[in-house]
Amino acid sequence: MRSAIEAARHPVLTTHINADGDGAGSEVALALYMERQGVKPAIVNPTPFPETFKFLLQHLTPWSCKAEEGRRALERADLIVVLDTSEPSRLGDVYPATRGRRIAVIDHHPSTPQSIGDPAIRDASACATGELIYDLIAKPDAPNASVSRPEAEALYVAIVTDTGSFRFANTTSRTHEICANLLRAGVDPQEMYRQLYGQVTDERLELLRRALSSLERDPEWPLASITLRRQDFQESRAASADLEGIVEHARQLRGVEIAALFRELPDKSTKVSLRSNGEADVAAIAREHGGGGHTKAAGVHIKGPLEASRAEVLASARLALRKKGLGPTPPPNGDPEAARGP
Ligand code: 5GP
Ligand code: MN
Repeated sequence: MRSAIEAARHPVLTTHINADGDGAGSEVALALYMERQGVKPAIVNPTPFPETFKFLLQHLTPWSCKAEEGRRALERADLIVVLDTSEPSRLGDVYPATRGRRIAVIDHHPSTPQSIGDPAIRDASACATGELIYDLIAKPDAPNASVSRPEAEALYVAIVTDTGSFRFANTTSRTHEICANLLRAGVDPQEMYRQLYGQVTDERLELLRRALSSLERDPEWPLASITLRRQDFQESRAASADLEGIVEHARQLRGVEIAALFRELPDKSTKVSLRSNGEADVAAIAREHGGGGHTKAAGVHIKGPLEASRAEVLASARLALRKKGLGPTPPPNGDPEAARGP
């Protein structure tokens, strides 16, 4: 990977649609590292670089692949480095521009038959793609290892966001060891928290209000879901990035095994986020409908309309719970013995 990166004259870095903190942070850290190696990469994404993560950018300017500059960078690219996904369908309008190009991938999602990338660093045991970038640029035993403060901040954001602030099952002792090194490189955790979570906008607050009033527990199964319609986005003026973390409000309910968030997109298709609290494999549920992801955090974009897609995914989730012997949940205040299912 290092030699592919160092040999590139016109590299482009990209990530999945609706970049999250891991995608965006990994791009910034790798771009700053590459500049130190004497190459000047362009960051070109299928969707706009999220406002929340712009504080990481320093002098870098990310482009949308629809902008003239983004198109030109993709046209002259001799290496496209794909971060935090390996799947063509997750690259949106960037994917057609990768045809015939050398594509390198750095990703922590489990590989699938659709996975692209050569060379590829793919390791599903990493808590974030940022962990793999850290190994590439900053691991103390790597040749010429060092990490600047702006690189460390970008990696810290990648790791904090993908581990749910060190709460999720992907958090390991290594996650904390890496973050300790990032703090040594100058990261201020309080400042990072303020940037990421301490500046909730009125739009996000209004979206959260609507999300909470739509939150529903399945009457029988340990399943909870949030449903947001186009109207909710229009009236709250919220953007996709404002959804970050909202599914956790369904996941954190007592007794819930699977949480889902359904969002009606502007073209009337449906985006689904799935989370598991334990045994249930939500990546398998997402795959049934054409999506994918991690065992405990997965998603899918379904062409069909909200109500029908929601019903189909919830049916799959109930079936997955049944197969694992999870639920149905006893009625509150009822006799738990009588309510225990087959
Ligand atoms: P989120 O629910 O936060 O959008 O996504 C959680 C995880 O699910 C992501 O890290 C990604 O692995 C996976 N994911 C989300 N949406 C899709 C999708 O449309 N297709 C695939 N294959 N994976 C997705
Ligand atoms: Mn990630």
